[in-house]
Amino acid sequence: MSEIAVVGGGAAGMAASLFAARAGASVTLLEHNEKLGKKVYITGKGRCNLTNDCSLDEFLAQVPRNPRFLYSALSFFPPREMMALLESAGCPVTVQRGRRVFPASEKASDVTKALSALLRDAGVRIRLNTQVQSLRQENGRLAGVETGNGFLPADAVILCTGGLSYPSTGSTGDGYRLAAELGHTVLPPSPVLVGLETAEDWPRSLQGLSLKNVTLTLCRGKKVLYSELGEMLFTHFGISGPLALEASCHLPDPPQGASLLLDLKPGLTPAQLDARLLRDFSATGKKQLKSELASLLPVRLAELFPSLCGLPAAVPCNQITGEQRRRLVEVLKGLPLSVRAPRPLAEAVVTRGGVQVREVDPSSMRSKLLPNLYFAGEMLDVDAHTGGFNLQIAWSTGALAGHSAARLSSDPAGAATKEDV
Ligand SMILES: Cc1cc2nc3c(=O)[nH]c(=O)nc-3n(C[C@H](O)[C@H](O)[C@H](O)COP(=O)(O)OP(=O)(O)OC[C@H]3O[C@@H](n4cnc5c(N)ncnc54)[C@H](O)[C@@H]3O)c2cc1C
Repeated sequence: MSEIAVVGGGAAGMAASLFAARAGASVTLLEHNEKLGKKVYITGKGRCNLTNDCSLDEFLAQVPRNPRFLYSALSFFPPREMMALLESAGCPVTVQRGRRVFPASEKASDVTKALSALLRDAGVRIRLNTQVQSLRQENGRLAGVETGNGFLPADAVILCTGGLSYPSTGSTGDGYRLAAELGHTVLPPSPVLVGLETAEDWPRSLQGLSLKNVTLTLCRGKKVLYSELGEMLFTHFGISGPLALEASCHLPDPPQGASLLLDLKPGLTPAQLDARLLRDFSATGKKQLKSELASLLPVRLAELFPSLCGLPAAVPCNQITGEQRRRLVEVLKGLPLSVRAPRPLAEAVVTRGGVQVREVDPSSMRSKLLPNLYFAGEMLDVDAHTGGFNLQIAWSTGALAGHSAARLSSDPAGAATKEDV
């Protein structure tokens, strides 16, 4: 029976361990935290959007970075199988808006509990509070892993140490160093699905205000890089919330020169909006502009809005000129913001960059540099939009890596059959 060491007990590591054990290997899962799946606990605001119930093509369209690399992994272990796996372990799931899948209890902890039970049943040895410090190489192969508690020999090692975001969950970038020490190229990590710092100060004065049904457009020069209708939030640094996080995936590097336009009334054309303002202003007479705007915008934004258009907030509506009204329409339909920088990696939902996928065989997740080294999860240079796609990438690449490692290390010739992977 082959001995497999899985490094990192996050989503990818749990999947890798389970599939390796089910394929007949003796598996040790090494996790330096005091518990498994610390990041899973905080996903989806504690509800865990664990996958997306969509087709393979729809899934790949949500992966901006190296989507084809994931084809085999997602075919091997697709979203529906993840859903079935959890249900089989007593964790029913529910499909919600945008085909986002959650545990029916809406408790992320139930996902980890179910997976932990499956790991126990499959006979996986779990070593918590164990940090892998280096991987030992002998004669062009890995011989095992060096931990703070001694050496663990292994026929194959699966690295699932995650990226660099939310380091308090354990993803401290260790795996990047381990992979680089073995000769792998590690592309510089950068934050995606992260808030955006704006050059303007005014968003800070609206901190905590969330806007629904607005359109956020990200441009470089005249080129539109991203445009979507949805929800966003003003913060102490600029903007966050679903639209800003998604926009961050499309941010050019460096971000300077990227601009944002916020359409506060996407349901109305400029002509319709102008007609509405004309009608309202003539009906309300001496009412102050900021008070009248409160019928169109949240109060805090309505109070600030005239100054964003270069108008006095207290101007009576019946004194507003046609030119001033057109200026109001222009800014309501395209409030400009400039991106200074994305927020730091530690605050990002996902890390972009990591182990270069060209050096990993997509049909097995095996390293092309070392015959008994495998990778899975966020430490690979793949990332996806929000909607459960990032966790599914971890489940699928983990499952494929675990299965392949078990099959390939039990085969002395080291060759996989098509049925294997
Ligand atoms: C706030 C937040 C919300 C999110 N919400 C969602 C969501 O709802 N849906 C979604 O699809 N994705 C979501 N994501 C992204 C998703 O959580 C990650 O992409 C996914 O968890 C990556 O899994 P992983 O196993 O590759 O890495 P991780 O979950 O980071 O696991 C890596 C593990 O390796 C361990 N480790 C690291 N180095 C060592 C070492 N040297 N020795 C031993 N152990 C080590 C770490 O302690 C950690 O447990 C969210 C992310 C964040 C930060």
